[in-house]
Amino acid sequence: MSTSELGTPAQPLRVAIIGSGPSGFYAAEHMQSQPDLFVQVDMYDRLPTPFGLVRGGVAPDHQKIKSVTRIYDKIAGHPEFRFFGNVELGRDIAHEDLTAYYHAVIYAVGARADRRMWVPGEHLPGSHSATDFVGWYNAHPDYRALRFDLSGERAVVVGNGNVAMDVARILASSVDDLAATDIAEHALEALAESRIREIIMLGRRGPAQAAFTTKELRELGHITGCEVVVDPAEATLDALSAAEVAAAPDRTRDANLEVLAGYAGAQPSGTGRRVVLRFLASPVELIGTDRVEAMVVAHNELRRGDDGQLRPRQTDRLETIPVDLVFRAIGYQGTPLPGAPFDAKRGIIPNQDGRITDPATGEAIPGEYVVGWIKRGPQGIIGTNKPDSHQTVDALLHDLRDGRLDKPAVPPRAVLEGLLAERRTDLVSYEDWQVLDRLEQERGKQAGDRPRVKFSRVEEMLAALAEHRAGQVVG
Ligand code: NAP
Repeated sequence: MSTSELGTPAQPLRVAIIGSGPSGFYAAEHMQSQPDLFVQVDMYDRLPTPFGLVRGGVAPDHQKIKSVTRIYDKIAGHPEFRFFGNVELGRDIAHEDLTAYYHAVIYAVGARADRRMWVPGEHLPGSHSATDFVGWYNAHPDYRALRFDLSGERAVVVGNGNVAMDVARILASSVDDLAATDIAEHALEALAESRIREIIMLGRRGPAQAAFTTKELRELGHITGCEVVVDPAEATLDALSAAEVAAAPDRTRDANLEVLAGYAGAQPSGTGRRVVLRFLASPVELIGTDRVEAMVVAHNELRRGDDGQLRPRQTDRLETIPVDLVFRAIGYQGTPLPGAPFDAKRGIIPNQDGRITDPATGEAIPGEYVVGWIKRGPQGIIGTNKPDSHQTVDALLHDLRDGRLDKPAVPPRAVLEGLLAERRTDLVSYEDWQVLDRLEQERGKQAGDRPRVKFSRVEEMLAALAEHRAGQVVG
């Protein structure tokens, strides 16, 4: 095949995208927007539902952020776009299938595991990863069966990022406010019975190094029946941080410090729920017999590391806090994929500007690309994925022009469709997802004007689709 033919209606460029979160959709969009390219995109997801962390990660009380899915609907509406939901790489489709049926594969699988604190007692019942809690309250089927004991009064959330903020806010919110969101039904029921009164957020560094953003910090102060407590001594910067702040402005950091100073200056009322923001404090041990009962916390000081960053260093000042529940919100972690190389240290697929590289040679593997968190690590908001995916697609288009995606023959789309239908009788198309979407929204209306009531089990989703199809046949 000559280079000029590939990417034309006679020889469409066929691309598989594995994963249907923001990074996958932005990659599809950038390919679709190329004026002289005829591209057929097949997007796969192991769940019947698309959108990755927009559905399973973004907090239920952040509905506005979720409206980004309207853009993804448009991308999916492209005549040459197909969605294969409920298809898992390694279970239903192999890496060899992808290389046989596509000119290029783009991995957009995100980072689904969580980081460990590596402290004794971390595995006691009552100590959880925030990613589990987030998946649970967002009705992700993987987390449906989890149980969180909310019968105690104090929870500690370790970490100072936006995930820690989300977890603290959900724990602190009133059930009436949560009922107006699309939080999972099972989570709403459990949180209605919650006896948690105090949520402590532990940052291992100081207020000037917090990873959360100002909007999220302000939101804490607007939770009904909840106050934010900051010890003025902890809000005061150490000498090294103060020098950094004085040396150069940083919009988020400086705005955060202003909001924190406001919280620190307020007189706590002592009524209702409270979120306590602590700094320069790290857990060193969780204590308990049958479940977590206390946390030993070390006070830290900041030292400049070799990389120039201020790093926490543990002092010998220890304190023991009685706790009933612990969430570690210290970052997501990528996991290996069948058939793709993996950099275990960084938790990413090794790549150069999105071209997957062979760890043995450092050379790019022809036709294999990566986008999103599994490309760059679990950092950044939804919009960060747009330039990131564009960079990868630009590399792919470059390779296309250079003839590096040419193959002797790629079987037509229908062959693959037949193969997938043989392997899975319950494939979920984008139209199917739109049926589920409508059903969830209808359930929401019936439940008192909630944005939606999510299906939280794959079987439930498939049964709802089967019922819908049967109704159509009868109708
Ligand atoms: P993150 O922003 O990287 O924050 C991780 C936090 O955990 C940091 O404060 C980090 O402290 C701390 N940490 C790491 N290891 C630790 C340890 N061993 N002990 C104690 N603390 C530790 O990660 P994230 O909160 O998981 O969020 C991931 C990304 O999603 C971020 O870019 C975030 O902004 C984004 N996100 C956005 C929203 C939103 O826009 N509303 C919501 C959720 C997530 P150090 O700084 O000292 O390393």
